[in-house]
Amino acid sequence: MNRGKIRKTEGIELPNESKIKNLEEKEHYKYLGILQADNIAHTEVKRKTGSEYIRRVRKILKSKLNGGNTIQAINTWAIPIIRYTAGIIDWTQAELETLDRKTRKIMTINHAVHPHSDVDGLYLPRSSGGRGMLQVHQTVEEEKRGLEEYIKDSEEDALQMVNNAKLFNTNETKQAYKKEQVKNRAEKWKNKPLHGQYLHNISGKSDITKTWQWLKNGNLKKETEGLILAAQEQALRTNAIRAKVEKSTTNCKCRLCKEADETVDHLISCCKKIAQTDYKQRHDKVAGMIHWNICKKYKLPVAKDWWDHNIEKVQENEDVKILWDFRLQTDKHLPHNTPDITVVEKKEKQVKIINIAIPGDSRIEEKEIEKITKYKDLQIEIEKLWQKKTQIIPVVIGALGAVPKDLEEHLNNIGATEITISQLQKAALLGTAYILRRYL
Ligand SMILES: [Zn+2]
Repeated sequence: MNRGKIRKTEGIELPNESKIKNLEEKEHYKYLGILQADNIAHTEVKRKTGSEYIRRVRKILKSKLNGGNTIQAINTWAIPIIRYTAGIIDWTQAELETLDRKTRKIMTINHAVHPHSDVDGLYLPRSSGGRGMLQVHQTVEEEKRGLEEYIKDSEEDALQMVNNAKLFNTNETKQAYKKEQVKNRAEKWKNKPLHGQYLHNISGKSDITKTWQWLKNGNLKKETEGLILAAQEQALRTNAIRAKVEKSTTNCKCRLCKEADETVDHLISCCKKIAQTDYKQRHDKVAGMIHWNICKKYKLPVAKDWWDHNIEKVQENEDVKILWDFRLQTDKHLPHNTPDITVVEKKEKQVKIINIAIPGDSRIEEKEIEKITKYKDLQIEIEKLWQKKTQIIPVVIGALGAVPKDLEEHLNNIGATEITISQLQKAALLGTAYILRRYL
């Protein structure tokens, strides 16, 4: 460069005998990873980093990574491509938002996110019910603030000169900005009539931290993760949604029973038509896990893993008798006399009546109470007849994963301490996903 103009040379020789070659017109060189010549090549950098970012997103979504790892890979392998240029390249908000939109589109094409699913939910932390993905736009804004803080705090002469040039004027720390974004997003999400409904339905009744555990674990397939969240957000096209929201049909009734309105809640927990088939299968899966754990606890011979467990109607040793779906004989005829699992502890002289249920998530508390009231008479009869202290213990999980506050206590009471709440939750969710895929 000579007085701001590029001068043609045969290259410049350096003292160590290496040579800097002459740059042709419009040619750039990379300095600290950013293309430049007499100026930073903004347009060129945006084109190159943008397409590399998209290439990586696409590659990740084509892979067989599970839901959690897919997002983790986007955050740690794709996002940094753009983050590196933050504060240096003059990205406009529109350009960054276009990258975010493209990302969501690629996710939708690869079934990782439902087309009607909530955008805010995608960027919320997994611990509060989101997918935990980093947004390109927000990341760049965060990084700008981070750079500004760094420059402000630096005692290096050159950086102090940069600080005096006032290139950034956000007047906000990176942390404060980030916190504000998460707060606004969570607020917006909660207030949406359809997308926020799930949260309203389960708040107060459930242990929120445990309820979001399946998302934190992230071990479902990305397709299943997207489907369950879409179900929670009322984003699935049930007949009720088609008739009442989209107005694309006049028939809002359930395609199976043709009686009730076809909502997600109805399909996954209330339809009589599939109560004895699909619901029972899902129920028995969860109940089987509990049964396996109880057998194990009392040292009855069982398979090494719960998924290989063979349930027998009656299993017994000198300490215990375990009954599965077994009708208990009483003097009085009782309408509810067949608990899912009955545990008779011979030495302790006590009986545990265990019932498992996977209701709609808004009814988890009701369901626990219902299970206790229904079996009250049986409890009284058994105590009288067998002269043993009898307890009724409900094990309830929402069809979309809601965990009641006292579930852990109940599991401890049963002694089911090897099976985790996450495992029970996963089994319930897989059963629900199967039902949604089969009928919608
Ligand atoms: Zn139905």
